[in-house]
Amino acid sequence: MPGFELFSDAERKEVMDVLETGVLMRFGFDGQRKNVFKAKELESSIERKFSVKHAQLVSSGTTAISTALAVAGVGAGDEVILPTFTFVASFEALLAVNAVPVLVDVDKSLTLDPEAVRKAITPKTKAVMPVHMCGAQADLDALAAICKEHGLLLIEDACQATGATYKGQYLGTIGQLGCFSFDYVKTVTMGEGGAIITNSDDYAIKADGYADHGHDHLGVDRGADLHPFLGLNYRVSELTAAVGLAQFRRLDDFLAIQRDVKRRIKDALIEAVPGMEFRVIHDEVGDNASHLSFFLPSFEKAREARRLLNDAGVTGCFHWFDNNWHYIRNWHHLKQCSVLSPLPAEVKEGLAVYATKEFPQSDQIISRAISMGISLTWTEEQIQQRINTMIEILKSIY
Ligand SMILES: *Cc1c(COP(=O)(O)O)cnc(C)c1O
Repeated sequence: MPGFELFSDAERKEVMDVLETGVLMRFGFDGQRKNVFKAKELESSIERKFSVKHAQLVSSGTTAISTALAVAGVGAGDEVILPTFTFVASFEALLAVNAVPVLVDVDKSLTLDPEAVRKAITPKTKAVMPVHMCGAQADLDALAAICKEHGLLLIEDACQATGATYKGQYLGTIGQLGCFSFDYVKTVTMGEGGAIITNSDDYAIKADGYADHGHDHLGVDRGADLHPFLGLNYRVSELTAAVGLAQFRRLDDFLAIQRDVKRRIKDALIEAVPGMEFRVIHDEVGDNASHLSFFLPSFEKAREARRLLNDAGVTGCFHWFDNNWHYIRNWHHLKQCSVLSPLPAEVKEGLAVYATKEFPQSDQIISRAISMGISLTWTEEQIQQRINTMIEILKSIY
């Protein structure tokens, strides 16, 4: 699952390069930095690997989404459609630019149900933001078609799916903007960090400035930069970028392990547990394979399975329905609109519906779903043991 499981000399070397110059800032200090530009290098690596014109590093996945919205001109009162199953950061990032999160149902792919998206479109809708949860793709053909038909932006929250592809294209490159997280528990980590990718020169220039107080980076030095628009500080430090660079170079190695281990566990379960139902994956080949997700026949059975698996040492199994972070059921702070500083009236109105709104379709699916994180460090013996224990428990409960 997370790249931190396999920190190596590669990460240490990149960090030491930075510490030896002492320049922790990504911009300026050219005399001292001895041509060490880790953030720039990581951006170039992302552009090459994902075949995308521009990558912009930012301080987190959350700020990647806020920046993507800002550069696309999405703000006050604009509605953005996103799924009920995601991480809280997805709607926090919308609220940060005063956009209104419009949460809609997921389907058995655990991602946006395109029909639910269609029904949620209003004259205020500006963008659709699929979240590629647990390593696998939303139905991008269907969503891109809806966006095209209605003139909406497609902004991909690919924070949990670095390196995954859809029909041969890297996730994040299919929408106008793609957002990644490199926080501590993601596939590629730099401690804290994120990135936006886009093929638009206009969005790229705006993202570069927005993430650095609006600096245009065209001056002979920072003091001579102009500020064509207001920005914020969402920069990354060279130290974290150095870790990210080493990790990103190892992405294919991480994915190869996850894909192999997941395949073997899934094949064994298909063989041994008749009728076992798995998450729908829109493109199996491109799955980043960070998780194996499956459904139990009922909510009660899912809860029971999660308990039994955990008690038997099958660690890392999430029953999302009971979880505070990833499913709307327990997002009480959102439902009660608990904020520290007042929201604009239109955002408050937009959020008011969640105090009572029910999502029976999502409940039906999420209450039965369990996802197991695939570790990068399991030994052969641990994998075998896991398979045996899972078969025993799931057969008894299914
Ligand atoms: C992790 C995550 C984010 C936010 O990333 P941070 O780097 O932790 O801010 C956004 N969306 C999803 C789906 C995530 O899992």
